[in-house]
Amino acid sequence: MPLDASWAESWIRLSAQSVAEHREELTALDTAIGDGDHGSNLDRGMCAAVAALDDADELPTPGAVLKLTATTLISTVGGAAGPLIGTAFLRAAREADAPVLDAPGTARMVAAASEGVHARGHAETGDKTMADAWAAAARAAQAAVTRVGQSEDAPAVVLEAAALAAAEGARATEPMKARRGRASYLGERSCGYRDPGAVSTALILEAAAQTARQ
Ligand code: ADP
Ligand code: MG
Ligand code: MG
Repeated sequence: MPLDASWAESWIRLSAQSVAEHREELTALDTAIGDGDHGSNLDRGMCAAVAALDDADELPTPGAVLKLTATTLISTVGGAAGPLIGTAFLRAAREADAPVLDAPGTARMVAAASEGVHARGHAETGDKTMADAWAAAARAAQAAVTRVGQSEDAPAVVLEAAALAAAEGARATEPMKARRGRASYLGERSCGYRDPGAVSTALILEAAAQTARQ
C-alpha cells in the first residue's frame, strides 16, 4: 500500500499487536540484564497509542499519526525506553509530513528516528542498546534507496531492508557488553543476551515493512 496516513495507522496497530505477542520475551530479556519491565512498559505504551488513534479524527499524513504515537508513548511508557522510542517517533513524524512517502522520504524517516535515539540517549553503535538496531536500519534504508529506484514498491523495499537490518542489529547485541542504560551496571555479565530495546525496535520496523507490503 502507499505509505500514507492509513499505512502509518496500520503500522502502529500491527506494532502494538506484535509487542503484545512478544511481551513475555521482551520481559525475559529485560529480566536477564535489566529490571524486567520492558515488555510491560512498551505494551502499555503501544496500547495507549492505539487507543489515541481510535479516539482521533482522521489524520491527514503519516507524520500526524506518528506524532500522536510519539506523544502518547512519551507520556505513558516512562523508564529509559519511553523517552527514547517516543523521540524516535517524534523525529520520524517530522520527516513524514507529506501525504504519501516516497523511497527517499522513507529512508529519511528511519534515519531521523535513529538520530533521535542517538541525540536523546547518547549511545554509540556497539553500546548494546536500541541505537544498534536503529542505526543498522537507517544505514540499510539509505543503501536500499540507491538500489530500488522509482518502482511502485520502492518504499516497501526500503522498509524491508530496514527491518532486516534492525533484526540483524538486535542479534548482534547478544555478545556485546552494555555501556548504556541499566544493563551497563552488569558489565561483563550483560554479555550473552540480546538487548530488549533492540529486539523491540526490530519488531516495530518489521511491522512497518509488513504493512507496507499489503
Ligand atoms: P528501563 O531501563 O528504565 O527499565 P526499559 O526496560 O523499558 O527501561 O528499556 C530498556 C531499553 O532502553 C534497553 O534495552 C535499551 O535498548 C534502551 N536504552 C537504555 N538506555 C539507553 C540509551 N542511553 N540509549 C539508547 N537506548 C537506551
Ligand atoms: Mg527495564
Ligand atoms: Mg524500568
